[in-house]
Amino acid sequence: MRGEKGGAGGVAETKRNGRKCGKVKKILLLATGGTIASRNLGEGLTPALTAEELLGCVPEIANVCDVTAEQVCNLDSTNMRPEHWVQIARRVREVYDAYDGFVITHGTDTMAYAAACLYYLLQNARKPVVLTGSQISIFERDSDARDNLLGAFRYASDPDACGVRVFFDGKVICGTRARKTRTRSFNAFSSVDYPTVALVRDGRVQYYIKGDVTGEERFYDRLDADVLLVKLTPGIDAGILDYAAAHSHAVILESFGVGGIPHYDDGAFEKGIARLQAKGVRIVVATQVAHEGSAMETYRVGYRIKEKYRLPEAYEMTTEAVLAKTMWALTVTDSAEAFYRVFETPVGNDLLI
Ligand code: ASP
Repeated sequence: MRGEKGGAGGVAETKRNGRKCGKVKKILLLATGGTIASRNLGEGLTPALTAEELLGCVPEIANVCDVTAEQVCNLDSTNMRPEHWVQIARRVREVYDAYDGFVITHGTDTMAYAAACLYYLLQNARKPVVLTGSQISIFERDSDARDNLLGAFRYASDPDACGVRVFFDGKVICGTRARKTRTRSFNAFSSVDYPTVALVRDGRVQYYIKGDVTGEERFYDRLDADVLLVKLTPGIDAGILDYAAAHSHAVILESFGVGGIPHYDDGAFEKGIARLQAKGVRIVVATQVAHEGSAMETYRVGYRIKEKYRLPEAYEMTTEAVLAKTMWALTVTDSAEAFYRVFETPVGNDLLI
């Protein structure tokens, strides 16, 4: 379903806070479901509203931009998968020249994964691609949905807006830095180890960072979803790596601290890593600590593995970004060395090394 028109077409100029802001921006809304579009139909909340109905709940959007609405799917984001994000990226790419920006409504539960995947699929996009949603359905009186939707359109219509972003509770967050850190509060998303890009406050966009999207625009349309994330826990059996070898093309090891991989049971983990590499399974070492990232060479428990097996590490990237980058890097490399180099090369601001 796509192509329903909504909002204020044909207006030559818009006003924000009484100031003229030039040509009205053309923004495409891609709706995918989530709480923002949900109703309780008897068994808990489930997406029910269409893109057009969402726009109808926030008529002020028509004063901000010229909006067109398309329905991509209508899912709880628990059911969103990499193939949906590829579908969204393909659609953005198909109509990239026809619009000035894109707003994607999405469930909050996997929004950070969606943002990270879109970041790698639409690298260095000069036009804004803004994901938003809400903690409470747009039907409810005290919902955050209307503010979030309007704010996302305000940001997407701003002349300096660019890149893949999450907009939530007034904050514009870089697509690889967003993480859902609260299940209920309106300030559900945090920007991890990177400043908030901008705020939308009193109808205006206030930037903390401008011009952070600089590299060449590069668009991709594939992700390899066969990636397994293994969180190390004390005493974990290294046999998990053999399971991983049989079921995935890449394994992300969420290590301890700055990159500790256990060295017990006669080096069982090290042997498991060697078996994975022999089978051509890529391995990335991330940390399970929320902030400040890995530095594998700090301790012997990491140093030995990094030295010997040349495993790329995640540094200060979020788990969501690590997963997305791995899914993308698998599709553009055909050797362990190429994968290592691609993974450890910054894409935009995903790595600050
Ligand atoms: N379960 C919902 C979803 O992710 C939660 C939300 O949107 O806030 O679709």
